[in-house]
Amino acid sequence: MNKGKLLVISGFSGSGKGTIVKKLLNESDDFALSISATTRTPRTNEKNGVEYYFVSHEEFEKMIENNELLEYAKYNNNYYGTPRKFVEEKLEAGKSVLLEIEYQGAFQIKKQFPDAILIFIVPPSAKILHQRLKDRGTETDEQIRNRLKVALIEGKAASEYDYIVVNDDLETSVQDIVKITKDVYNKSEDFTELIISIVKDIEEENYV
Ligand code: 5GP
Repeated sequence: MNKGKLLVISGFSGSGKGTIVKKLLNESDDFALSISATTRTPRTNEKNGVEYYFVSHEEFEKMIENNELLEYAKYNNNYYGTPRKFVEEKLEAGKSVLLEIEYQGAFQIKKQFPDAILIFIVPPSAKILHQRLKDRGTETDEQIRNRLKVALIEGKAASEYDYIVVNDDLETSVQDIVKITKDVYNKSEDFTELIISIVKDIEEENYV
């Protein structure tokens, strides 16, 4: 049996990547979603074993020691990591596995799995990004500012990704990802200017 593909999806916090991933999973049986372990506290409505495995710092460090994680990184002072066993088993069974992780983890994955496809989701503008984070209503203004600061660094990492998808319309973005997996996505479009302008607007707080 063919081994499945490993798809890494990253993007600015508020880019809509979570929604894209959910829709992709609903529409196709070809994908399995890896559930990460994290030390961050659950948001309202988040359940252990659904969005994440919520663990303590000690438990997370044990997982690192025991080599149970394929990759891990720190984001906003919390650990996030991908449990190894699930990914390896699904790939072996021929399923494609989705990892919704940030860029440091994405690059660790690419090193271990050179065939992994790295996809970076960007919003159409900094203003829309800021608005989406506010609408989500799960973070304070201070936390939103912190996430936007992280977005600055992430924006600079985006150029290392295999594909950029601009999330203007949810359905189109999902179809773009399906096309990427089938190798029929138009890769020639260059989104460098868009990413530079988003990063500049965040830097200048030009989004309200
Ligand atoms: P959030 O706190 O918003 O759920 O996630 C914060 C960031 O951590 C997001 O960019 C998300 O993609 C990333 N993330 C989630 N799980 C993992 C993981 O297992 N490994 C890494 N490296 N990043 C992750």
